[in-house]
Amino acid sequence: MAAIIMDGKKTAAYVRQKVKEKCLLLKKEKGIVLGLAVILVGDDNASQIYVRNKAKACEEVGINSKQYTLPANTGQEELLKLIDTLNKDDKINGILVQLPLPKHIDEKEVIKAIDPKKDVDAFSNENIGRMFCGDMICSPCTPSGILEMLDYYKIDVRGKHCVVIGRSAIVGKPMAMMLLNRDATVTVCHSKTKDLPHICRQADILVVAVGKPKMITCEYVKPGAVVVDVGINRDENGKLCGDVDFESVKETASYISPVPGGVGPMTIAMLLNNVCNTVN
Ligand code: NDP
Repeated sequence: MAAIIMDGKKTAAYVRQKVKEKCLLLKKEKGIVLGLAVILVGDDNASQIYVRNKAKACEEVGINSKQYTLPANTGQEELLKLIDTLNKDDKINGILVQLPLPKHIDEKEVIKAIDPKKDVDAFSNENIGRMFCGDMICSPCTPSGILEMLDYYKIDVRGKHCVVIGRSAIVGKPMAMMLLNRDATVTVCHSKTKDLPHICRQADILVVAVGKPKMITCEYVKPGAVVVDVGINRDENGKLCGDVDFESVKETASYISPVPGGVGPMTIAMLLNNVCNTVN
């Protein structure tokens, strides 16, 4: 039987509606309009699209988004000064610096400069540390979006063997920790992992964040497993695709997230949710 498709657009719409309701309530009861500052340095095309999409999503739920577009040759000190100003600005609840930054700027220093309470990407050391303790203010958007999607489809991770392929700081590692916080048994795989298909076939839930088009075929999937595809790639025809070979795996899995329309929309929805979570 073909897998149930986990619809990221539908799930994200549900999250955005909840955020919208919270924004309305905050405005009505406390006169608060949430504000998100989005900083873009340089003119990278993909980053411009991401920033535009984030601004549009904010607008739709009633978050006031303010964009700061700085030229590619902006110095690190100038960027840190802007962050300092935004840290002190009461009307700004969240600060997001669109990555990657130009090479002459140290990303770690920039992330460190953001007030952890306004770090809506949850990239700061404090928020990473909080994740280890299971005491988060904000959670990284992509992994928390995946958990939200699993919840929406009533897929309980507790006691399940979850295999995460990829160990990046923004997806794989936080995903593993957040699954562990939810009582899953977690295996993390990466480019040096031996016999990847064998390990993957033991997964009840397989989360794939590799960045290799259609790498995961049904050979990697246990019949009935849940498969979450984080990848965003272009196939040989330039068409958007994930890390999972959707057409073959959907015949083996019980649930599968598509690309596009799976994890991607959840990431932005969780960003909005994080902005909301900055106020109690
Ligand atoms: P990175 O390139 O930072 O990490 C990729 C990971 O995959 C690394 O840990 C790497 O291992 C591992 N890997 C690479 N090749 C193999 C292999 N052959 N076998 C096993 N593991 C391998 O990528 P990201 O985590 O940032 O992103 C992954 C994908 O997800 C990309 O396609 C990206 O575009 C997409 N993405 C999607 C988002 C969304 O909202 N849907 C958000 C963020 C990312 P090693 O550490 O050993 O190098």
